[in-house]
Amino acid sequence: MWIVFAGLIVAVAAWWFLLRTEQPPNIVLITLESVRPDHLGCGGCPQAVSPAVDALAEEAMIYDDAHAVTSWTLPTHASIFTGLYPTAHQTTGPFSRLEDNYTTLAEILSEKGYQCGAVISGPYLKTAHGLHQGFEYYNESASALSQSSAHADVTCPQMETGLRHFLTRLRDPERPFFLFAYFWDPHYDYIPPQPYDRMFVTEDCEPIDVNEYEKGGIVTSKATPGEIKYIVSQYDGEIRWTDHHLHRFFQLLKAQGLWDNTVVIVTSDHGEEFYEHDWKGHKNNLYVEAIHVPLVIKFPGSLPRGRDSRLVSQLDLFPTILDLAGAESPGPHQGRSLLESVPAEGHAIYHELLTARYFPKEGGGWEQRYVRNWYGVREGEYKLVTVAEERRTELYNVADDPRERANIIARDDVPKNRLMGQIQLWNQDCQAIAKAYGSGGDAQLDEDALENLRSLGYIQ
Ligand SMILES: [Zn+2]
Repeated sequence: MWIVFAGLIVAVAAWWFLLRTEQPPNIVLITLESVRPDHLGCGGCPQAVSPAVDALAEEAMIYDDAHAVTSWTLPTHASIFTGLYPTAHQTTGPFSRLEDNYTTLAEILSEKGYQCGAVISGPYLKTAHGLHQGFEYYNESASALSQSSAHADVTCPQMETGLRHFLTRLRDPERPFFLFAYFWDPHYDYIPPQPYDRMFVTEDCEPIDVNEYEKGGIVTSKATPGEIKYIVSQYDGEIRWTDHHLHRFFQLLKAQGLWDNTVVIVTSDHGEEFYEHDWKGHKNNLYVEAIHVPLVIKFPGSLPRGRDSRLVSQLDLFPTILDLAGAESPGPHQGRSLLESVPAEGHAIYHELLTARYFPKEGGGWEQRYVRNWYGVREGEYKLVTVAEERRTELYNVADDPRERANIIARDDVPKNRLMGQIQLWNQDCQAIAKAYGSGGDAQLDEDALENLRSLGYIQ
């Protein structure tokens, strides 16, 4: 295993060295909303949920142990764009805005001569949250469809239009491009258009109404196995519908003669829960179903491809993309480039989640109540999760127990104290970075955005 892995790293390093002497490649970064790796064929799903991503994976590197920094959309994207953990970039709540003094991937690539474009859907990547920094084209028209509830939105056709517009009308052939695409549709409610709503329904599914899925009382932990199976069939239908549009996008890149010199990255912002740990949806906790993400990277040319079993964080995309572009970050970042031949031993990745309810304050602003600060660390086979407000500390051996079912914190032979100490040190690092940048910003949200947040359950 290690020999194969070392061979791959050497191949990457050699290829990367060659690449740096030539024109930098185009880079396409695709984030899929709420998509778990085990619901893609290349992640082990036996059903034909993702033929386009699977075909891409055939000519790409698949990172099997990749994880989000947290379990919801805004901070994970801010981490991808800054290479920093949420405490460091301070974009942690539904009203947060990434401050202008942070340097984003698109800003650095722009400086390096890239033409930077983005096509996004869903409410959290709208410009009010500040993630548009550095993009000269930022198409958020798909996310503006939502007047009352983002959950019912169907945005893939608008995404396709925006991406096509960039590639066929706006693209500057004199410059390499960085194109970011965020596909919202797999987010609950799981209401895929026909015929995707029937594709994965089997005889043992018990159909129920999945409209307003997030609201308590409609679908609960008391759902039967047949009902859960039906809900998952609709989630898979959403992924298959999105994959269909990825196929069309990939076809366009090929038709334009861009495929061979374009890095294509497909990942997800976080996972999705179906009551594995008593919750549904996401933004509830830091267990594997909520943070394990797919990561597929097609490098230009024919190398490298295969599977990489290293422990990877979303943060690693920042230095990896900069390496591919031959660019450097002017500020600190907390990830490591996947092109580096760093050994797996002793490497830790961290997770954090702020959960709270937001109530309007007299005179304006919002008050946080029911605050919970979740922290997690994964190192080797161990993963520790802790929530001080709930006096919850759990440890899992993910080699023996990949679904994190058996808490082994009470055992004497496990490194719980060392891992807790690591979380403290890491958190101090994050706070020091945040302090260097000054206080974080609040987004100025319009009424539509506020209504979206209400419908998503983030504010009262
Ligand atoms: Zn999300």
